[in-house]
Amino acid sequence: MSDLSELYQEVILDHNKRPRNFRVLDAAAHRAVGHNPLCGDQITVFVQLDGDVIRDVSFQGAGCAISKASASMMTDAVKGKTVAEVQDLFHQFHAMVTSTPDALPDVDRVGKLAAFAGVCEFPARVKCASLAWHTLQAALHQVPDPVTTE
Ligand code: ZN
Repeated sequence: MSDLSELYQEVILDHNKRPRNFRVLDAAAHRAVGHNPLCGDQITVFVQLDGDVIRDVSFQGAGCAISKASASMMTDAVKGKTVAEVQDLFHQFHAMVTSTPDALPDVDRVGKLAAFAGVCEFPARVKCASLAWHTLQAALHQVPDPVTTE
């Protein structure tokens, strides 16, 4: 299990250092701002939809390693998926980060996002890990006000 945690930590550190899709998406019709006041994480998520498929997605912002890595991996995970598939993935992810530490992630369903399974041991970090996902929801639903985890 410790080898697995190390591997997961590497994935998170890599995404923090070299975040994917870290840019402004000018063509994005959907965007939302998210804020986690507890940690100071701030993020903007941009989404370009093609029907109900996420054609492109990106983010900008500043925050801790967990929030940035989570946003980076979220964009990788949802690109090309339908809104319904993304909802399902969001529920899987949320259940995973709020479950008990001894529960194993359902890797078949969450894929690389399993790297965040260990977050459930650190309740204060759950908000860091889920901020990007809540902000994505707001962008998809065109919520006009900034999202806050509080
Ligand atoms: Zn944070």
